[in-house]
Amino acid sequence: MYAQVIVDIAHSQVDRIFEYSCQSDLKTGSRVKVPFGGRVIDGFVIGLSETCSLPPEKVKPIKEVFDECPALVPECFSLMERISSRFRVPKAAALRLFLPSEMRQGKVREAYKKYAKLNDIPVPISKSAKKQAEILDFLKDREEYEFTALCDKFGRGAVNALVEKGAISIEKRQIKRNPLGGVYSEELPKTLTYSQANAIESIENSPKSVHLIHGVTGSGKTEIYLQIIAREIAKGKTAIFLVPEISLTPQMLAQLRARFKGEAAILHSGLSAGEKFDEWWRLRSGEAKIAIGARSAIFAPLENLGAIIIDEEHDTSYVSETAPRYSTLDVAKMRAEYNGCKLILGSATPSVESYIEASEGRYNLITLTERINKKPLPEIIISDMRREVRRGNNSAFSKALRDELDETLKSGNQAIIFLNRRGYAKTVICRDCGYVAKCNDCDVSLAYHSEENCLKCHYCGAKYKMLTACPECGGTHVRLGGTGTQRVVVDLKELFPAARIIRMDNDTVSGKDGHYKILHKFANKEVDILVGTQMIAKGHDFPSVTLVGILDADMSLYFSDYRSGERTFQLITQVSGRSGRADDKGKVVLQTCCPENYILRYAVNYDYLGFFKNEIEVRKATKFPPYSLICRVMVTSENDALALEALKGVYLEIEELRKKYSQEFLFLNRMHSPIKRIQSKHRYQVLMRLSGDKMLESIYDIAVKYTSGNCLVYVEENPANLS
Ligand code: ADP
Ligand code: ZN
Repeated sequence: MYAQVIVDIAHSQVDRIFEYSCQSDLKTGSRVKVPFGGRVIDGFVIGLSETCSLPPEKVKPIKEVFDECPALVPECFSLMERISSRFRVPKAAALRLFLPSEMRQGKVREAYKKYAKLNDIPVPISKSAKKQAEILDFLKDREEYEFTALCDKFGRGAVNALVEKGAISIEKRQIKRNPLGGVYSEELPKTLTYSQANAIESIENSPKSVHLIHGVTGSGKTEIYLQIIAREIAKGKTAIFLVPEISLTPQMLAQLRARFKGEAAILHSGLSAGEKFDEWWRLRSGEAKIAIGARSAIFAPLENLGAIIIDEEHDTSYVSETAPRYSTLDVAKMRAEYNGCKLILGSATPSVESYIEASEGRYNLITLTERINKKPLPEIIISDMRREVRRGNNSAFSKALRDELDETLKSGNQAIIFLNRRGYAKTVICRDCGYVAKCNDCDVSLAYHSEENCLKCHYCGAKYKMLTACPECGGTHVRLGGTGTQRVVVDLKELFPAARIIRMDNDTVSGKDGHYKILHKFANKEVDILVGTQMIAKGHDFPSVTLVGILDADMSLYFSDYRSGERTFQLITQVSGRSGRADDKGKVVLQTCCPENYILRYAVNYDYLGFFKNEIEVRKATKFPPYSLICRVMVTSENDALALEALKGVYLEIEELRKKYSQEFLFLNRMHSPIKRIQSKHRYQVLMRLSGDKMLESIYDIAVKYTSGNCLVYVEENPANLS
């Protein structure tokens, strides 16, 4: 027998299939070790055959086979082809997506526990061996006992002596590290509301394969997902349920576990390597049938998929910003097609791209306009911060927000304050000469962090000493500009000394379950006010929150990105949606310096359709996505001259393409990236707007051609972030 093997080296030069001889019981999908260029490396078996294209004496045998059950499901191979050709990555890089990184190179293994058990046939022991007699007595009434615990109790020597005599035997069994530990609660399916039942009916009966649930915040989308999953499981199928990483809260996990028990497995970055390994194998072995996780769970090793659900489908975390730069939606569509299964997208603020698909009939559109129990959406009050300043209020909070906070605290409810900027102050400026403190390695200004009294770069994490004098002019009038979350907490403490306040942003969320701890405290009402960045905007369901304050609502409007309007609308709607989800009515105070902005007007009225119609007209007129494809070729290198040279080459080749296919190019230019340097790497870009995807393949080819050891060239399609 011969095996076709992809070696685990993600490089274009070895991006092909190699042949090895193997045993006849080898299975497709197995991970193996093979001799390769004088070394032994990992590989994946992607096919088997009786014959070989090489002369038999040239074929080397496979050295070692991992796993009794092949790690890769058969679907991987078709997906590998599609992903590697669609996103232009080596096949090995595409296959790696299907295995948690901890599993590659055998870094983690199964965990085992040993159990001791009394043998049926008694063995005589001498009178002097008191401990041994005690052990036998102890095990008499027990089925078995954990080996290590037994040794701890009676001493390892006595236990081993009994094993040697054949009085007891030891069995080694694999144990599953359970990441959900004790979180269990009995949770029964809810009685569906009329709209929920309709939604499920529609998903079951529509001939379309992609469904978009556009449901306001709190309309009960989760229950729809859960019941769809339950139906698929009942049919003997499996399901993938994707949520933004930050929504994987203990409450959410407990709810899923309660509903699906051992049939659900969780895959996310917060798990330890061992936990991830076990959860992954539970899915692969068929023990678990539902994969729940963030973006990468789309690659869960499930066969026979019945449904793929992408909650908060508009969320930017679904686009991978590191290689391979895949879009989760694209991969989900490939898997849905392969399995002939349903793909369900849900959001209160669908992306413009998804909504147009639905409104033009290519997706099945389901609209939920009301919250569960017809609770009203929270009223949004606008505070015009220009007027506040004119009235002499220079603080970060408007009078309306202060009054509402006061009332919320008095009534024993909770509040969320949202500001999309961490640290104490955004910048440090010298008042004498205008110098702004910047990172040495990145072309961005440094933020002041009061707790550590230092300056931090939010791009590379570098820390600098706080300035006492200006390094340019020596002046000592150093001023802090722009409020961040730390400052908000300090100011709030001054205003409401009795309030218990907690902050959640990249600085306070650290470690495996940093954000769980914070959210848990808030959910338990150990805290009155939660201050945070966009981490707090997503999906959370806190019944006692009746006030949301949005500081600087228009910040994202000023980013020079065609999606800034959409982002602002989404952010306001999502953050506001955290308020008034239970019995008490909710309120939102939205602070802004441009209350007349049309995006804010739509957001305040929860008018998604109005926003969408307006936005789509603008995009059509200006030829932005979905009426074009934005393509950016990034060129980065520590060596500026090298980067410039590559940029020139890339640009010239694309120019040539444009000459031939001028109708495909709506816009083409090369320039410095908005942030000229990150982590000492110079950044340049060729920016394009294309009328379709015809040119993509050639553009990917050009990027591959100009990539070298010292210069990275890569393609981004409709990137979420254009910095
Ligand atoms: P969404 O995901 O649409 O924002 P959720 O799924 O979080 O909304 O639902 C909002 C609240 O309504 C949750 O507390 C949920 O438990 C509750 N809920 C959902 N469906 C029902 C139902 N059929 N009956 C009673 N309560 C429900
Ligand atoms: Zn930096």
